[in-house]
Amino acid sequence: MKSNQIDLKSLMKLKIVQAGDPILRQQARALTKEEIGSEEIQRIIKIMINTLKDAPGVGLAASQVGLPLQIVVIEDRPEFTKAIPEEELKKRERKPVPLHVLINPRITYVSSEHAHFFEGCLSVDRFIGIVPRALEVRVEAMNEWGEPITIEARGWYARILQHEINHLQGILCTDFTLPRSLMVVENYNKYWLGQPIEKIAEDLQINLV
Ligand code: ZN
Repeated sequence: MKSNQIDLKSLMKLKIVQAGDPILRQQARALTKEEIGSEEIQRIIKIMINTLKDAPGVGLAASQVGLPLQIVVIEDRPEFTKAIPEEELKKRERKPVPLHVLINPRITYVSSEHAHFFEGCLSVDRFIGIVPRALEVRVEAMNEWGEPITIEARGWYARILQHEINHLQGILCTDFTLPRSLMVVENYNKYWLGQPIEKIAEDLQINLV
């Protein structure tokens, strides 16, 4: 299989494409079980993991490195949350998630409850905004060995899954960012860090829907 004429053998990581690149708006294609076992897809998965760790980020979809394939890698490392107060982590329902690979994922929204938090994307560099997300999801996919897996997730992990699976559908988190909430990370840290989301919404006249 040709992968955008990229010579994958010589690569350890790939460049993360930014919003505006047409590939981020493409529907990624599913892989066959035979493809998953192929040397090329196994190589792509390794490169995606390296790219995610290097960024660093909590999730990466193949579309973000220029490959319109239904592959996602996720890892929410304990060190990412060290600076976040315990109370805030509880509100976000954020716990570390070990590294794992999802291929051909299908998502179901389990509850109609939503959570509102600031969310960013490696492909929308430096910007974050408030994104409403379903609190609970169920994901059916295959792992890197082509074995079927089912994930039931809540809170922050459910948010990561929605964000990454959206990428495979050509959807960016900024498509759901609430009006008036978009800001650069530097200003979030300068003006809003540590404040409850309800207070930020009130100050910025944002309707939390
Ligand atoms: Zn993203």
